Amino acid sequence: MLRGKAALVTGSTSGIGLGIARALAGQGCAVMLNGFGEPAEIETIRETLAQEHDVPVSYSDADLSQPDDIAALVAMTADQLGGLDILVNNAGIQHTAPVTDFPADIWDKIIAIMLTGAFHAIQHALPHMQEKGWGRIVNTSSVHGLVASVQKSAYVSAKHGIMGLTKTVALETAGQGITCNAINPGFVRTELVQAQIDDRAQKIGASVEEAARNMLSEKQPSLEFVTPEQIGALCVFLCSDAAAQITGVPIPIDGGWTAQ
Ligand code: NAD
Repeated sequence: MLRGKAALVTGSTSGIGLGIARALAGQGCAVMLNGFGEPAEIETIRETLAQEHDVPVSYSDADLSQPDDIAALVAMTADQLGGLDILVNNAGIQHTAPVTDFPADIWDKIIAIMLTGAFHAIQHALPHMQEKGWGRIVNTSSVHGLVASVQKSAYVSAKHGIMGLTKTVALETAGQGITCNAINPGFVRTELVQAQIDDRAQKIGASVEEAARNMLSEKQPSLEFVTPEQIGALCVFLCSDAAAQITGVPIPIDGGWTAQ
């Protein structure tokens, strides 16, 4: 369905971003991977993706907190993959602390990567889409773009912020063959969430699996984690012609979290 198209997925060396990159490659889309990690592991991911799906796959270690890196990442995507049709703003980090203790430098970093980084990527990517009269922007927001939780002031602020950016870009691109939407996942068991499960296990003196169940039971009525594969499939749907009139909206995929 997406053969001939090129996608940049930020933060795609693990977790949700990798799930989205896999799903897009599975539809024949060329992919630019981005994120941090062990170079040999990333090279294996890149090669496997390219071989399994017979698509060009490149990689950049651009730091999404650095505006110059983002400009270079978008230019590299267009050069190496012959365009930039799909942008997935997904790179993210988490830090938990009460607002009174929240370190100011970590606040700045979270906003820089998850909100300002998405702004820069959209600003540089849109002209490539407008040139072709087709484009898809998918922002990995979160349930925390719709509701809050304690100890996550920077994360909740960045994720609410990206909802505003999503709606504004959707209005500015309406009628141009371009859509801009947000995916709002509940808990997905990635490295980012595993760190919170491990913390909780220590705090409540339970096993890691008990802590995982305890965490789900507080927020996610299905009591099951969302998977990167499910989010990848949702992203593919948003890139399809069937979704051409869906723009400017949050799409929760959260086992009922935000229905409460
Ligand atoms: P993850 O830690 O597995 O993946 C994060 C990715 O971002 C990695 O590839 C990492 O290298 C990359 N990254 C981090 N800082 C970066 C930077 N400065 N520049 C470039 N890349 C950077 O975590 P994940 O859970 O897959 O998170 C992906 C996105 O999904 C994040 O935006 C997160 O907020 C969001 N999200 C996660 C959950 C969840 O439950 N895991 C729920 C809702 C939303």
